Order: sequence, then C-alpha cells, then structure tokens
Amino acid sequence: KKKVMSKVVLLGPPGCGKGTQSQILVENFKFFQLSTGDLLREQTSKENSPYGKEIINIMNKGDLVPDEIVINLIIEKISVFKDKSIIFDGFPRNLNQARVLNNSLEEKSIKLDHAILIEVDFKILEKRILKRAKESNNKKRLDDNIETLNKRIDVYKNITLPIVSYYKDKGILSLVNGMDSIESVNKEILNIIN
Ligand code: AMP
Repeated sequence: KKKVMSKVVLLGPPGCGKGTQSQILVENFKFFQLSTGDLLREQTSKENSPYGKEIINIMNKGDLVPDEIVINLIIEKISVFKDKSIIFDGFPRNLNQARVLNNSLEEKSIKLDHAILIEVDFKILEKRILKRAKESNNKKRLDDNIETLNKRIDVYKNITLPIVSYYKDKGILSLVNGMDSIESVNKEILNIIN
C-alpha cells in the first residue's frame, strides 16, 4: 500500500519550537521542511539577490515581508515537493497567505492534512529568545533581540493568530503544549499526524 504523504502547517509564536520540531520531522520522518524564514535568509544572503537591503531591514525589525515575495518563494517549492510529506514552518503568517496556500494546494489536488498550533506562554517565550540571543553560536540571529522579539510577538498576536480560527473552521486544527519537553511535543505531533 502506498504511504500517504502528509501536508502539515506548524503554527505558533516566535520561539515556540517550530524550527526544532520541523528538524526532528525532517531527520527522522522524511519530511521536507518549507520555512519561509530560511528561504528568505538564503535569498538575502546571496550576492546578487533581487531582494535587497529593504527585505533584510524588514526582517531585522520583525515585520512581515510583503506577501508577493514570500508567496512566490513558497509556491515554487510546493511544486517541487508536492509528492512528499511537507512541513510548513513559518508560513502562512496571515490570512491572505493561508488562503493562497489553500488555493495553490487545491489546484494541485493536494489537501492540507493538519494545522498544528504549538502554544507557549508569552512570558516563557521572552526568556527562551533572550537565552538564544545570548548564545554566541551560529544559531544566533539578528532578529533575536528583545526589541525585535516584542515586535515579532505583536505581529504574531495581531496578524498571524487569526489563522488559527481559519484552520479551526476547516476542522484541521490541533493544539500541542509547547511548554512540554521537546520529546513530548514531538510525540504529540506524531500522534496527530499518524
Ligand atoms: P522566522 O525564521 O520564521 O522566524 O522568520 C524570520 C522573519 O522572516 C520574520 O520575522 C519575517 O520578517 C520574515 N518572514 C518569515 N516568514 C514569513 C512569512 N510567511 N510572511 C512574511 N514574512 C515572513
């Protein structure tokens, strides 16, 4: 019997562990991770990137990069990976992106199986990101400082959170407790997916 490939959106505030959980799904469960943050960082670090300083400034401030840029990056990748299991990490981040993702998958006769919200208290998030900001390894990011973090949390609450009810209405929303250990969160996610 042919294994069904899942398409999963991971939702949650900055620092909730989306990246970590995606990584586990990639390394152990043959998922392909589509992270718009990673795609944008990859693009902006290129010498002749069509996306200049403007985009880097937006990211460093913690604002959202314009939809048309992000959507083009992700649609291209969906076509490449459409027959695989995909984890969407950091996309969609607003209702328009959620609708575009939906339409684009529908066009390809693909269904989005799950939207998983990783919930973490905002106080705890602040501590996590401050810790990440202090670590002087290559995980450090320019947008891991307290000003940008506050902005990113604001953007999350005001612009990204409405997506949660969008997926709830579609009947594909699941919640996991992001304050549990990495292993338990991973178990919860696998239970939802399988
Ligand atoms: P992330 O690595 O997911 O935390 O994303 C880092 C930054 O990239 C965000 O703060 C935004 O500026 C930008 N970004 C990532 N994904 C998106 C998206 N789906 N829509 C708009 N901007 C995004």
